[in-house]
Amino acid sequence: MNKNISIIGAGASGLLSSVILAKKGFNVTVFEKNTKAGRKILATGNGKCNISNENLSMDNFHSSSKDFPTYAINTFTYKKFEEFFNNLGLLLLKGSGTKVYPLSLQASSVSDILYSEALRYGVKFIFNSYIEDIKSQNNIYIIKSNNDTYKCSKLIIASGSSAMKKLGSTSSGYDVAKQYKHKIIEPFASLVQLTSKDNSIYRLSGVKTNSLVKLYVNNKFVEEKSGDILFTNYGLSGNTILDLSRNASYSLQKNKKIQIHIDILPNMSNEYLVNLFNQRKELLKTKEINFLLESLINKKFIPYILNKAYLDRNKIYINQLSKNDISNVINQIKNIKVDINDTKGFDSAEVVAGGIDVRDIDNKTMQSKLQKNLYFCGEVLDVDGACGGYNLHWAWASAFVMSQSINL
Ligand SMILES: Cc1cc2nc3c(=O)[nH]c(=O)nc-3n(C[C@H](O)[C@H](O)[C@H](O)COP(=O)(O)OP(=O)(O)OC[C@H]3O[C@@H](n4cnc5c(N)ncnc54)[C@H](O)[C@@H]3O)c2cc1C
Repeated sequence: MNKNISIIGAGASGLLSSVILAKKGFNVTVFEKNTKAGRKILATGNGKCNISNENLSMDNFHSSSKDFPTYAINTFTYKKFEEFFNNLGLLLLKGSGTKVYPLSLQASSVSDILYSEALRYGVKFIFNSYIEDIKSQNNIYIIKSNNDTYKCSKLIIASGSSAMKKLGSTSSGYDVAKQYKHKIIEPFASLVQLTSKDNSIYRLSGVKTNSLVKLYVNNKFVEEKSGDILFTNYGLSGNTILDLSRNASYSLQKNKKIQIHIDILPNMSNEYLVNLFNQRKELLKTKEINFLLESLINKKFIPYILNKAYLDRNKIYINQLSKNDISNVINQIKNIKVDINDTKGFDSAEVVAGGIDVRDIDNKTMQSKLQKNLYFCGEVLDVDGACGGYNLHWAWASAFVMSQSINL
């Protein structure tokens, strides 16, 4: 019985820990409610799997207990990650900034390699098996699934979060934790799209721009990011929005007012644009005013910007525009304001922030401080990462330090 370990969840952290523990000689059983292992891994990085990041600076990891993730990240460094996965036969691709992918750019390479390694070392997978109830008696865990009952001496909860339920995600790990008196830091959606009730931006749906994006909370500047932003028929998406969404989502949960300010021509100064528009005024005199912006910005933006710039409707031709009109146009281009009313929620989020309060978890072993031989790893804990491979790296790193600490 001492050799029996059960893992709830065949996702990123569950798979990696099953490999290490089986190699150590444990009898590992993994319970997975889905029909196969690593279903969420398959969806990562748009199917390419942004598996880690060469720059594992701690600024990219968040937790209510700021220092909690440090030990795991400093132990399972990028170098250690590379060595671990190279030894499994996974070739890596670097070169998209500091982001790292499997060389195949196929997420299935990652899950297949981990799953086959686990099978090679005798890990037993029980699929279609949803763990509904856990009890402990005389240092033995009794695990009840939808179709059977199992016993083990050590239990690992690697059940992830409720982000994107369609991939099988559940928040059942929180229930197990609560059963053993663990507290839950209120979960909120992160790396998620933002919604707006301002339907004037819905007409920009489909436009993707490289922008400078600023987040304002209660009219105060909080954070800015540069990069891709996608206008949609519900609000805003794109990597830059996902990056800002953690702060936005947290503040929305606290009923604060959120506004996003977007500069769609961040590489052109106001002065540069004044000169450019004056030249175009000369050149395009008798053309309709929309030609002022033609070929400079996406066509869908033109009526939006001209409308927001409050141009006198009687002004039809470029040579009718005043200095003040030009200045208003530039202000709109450099400061599109979008009121945000919500996020797209847990069902669309890549990750959930909050989770099991890590103050009751030992950060060197991931063992509960409240219940012996009960372990947690991955996203179920109150640790989340920025866009860029940090969430998977947390899943790997937490599973790695945990599995290293468990011995026969
Ligand atoms: C669309 C999308 C794209 C993403 N892209 C990236 C990316 O490119 N890079 C990155 O770093 N991160 C990315 N992430 C986040 C990353 O996938 C997760 O943070 C990571 O998979 C968490 O690993 P985990 O082991 O904690 O949980 P998971 O990988 O979610 O695994 C948990 C498993 O437990 C199972 N389970 C849950 N409850 C039970 C139960 N009661 N009984 C049995 N089984 C159960 C679930 O079915 C699941 O298979 C993305 C997430 C999404 C949704």
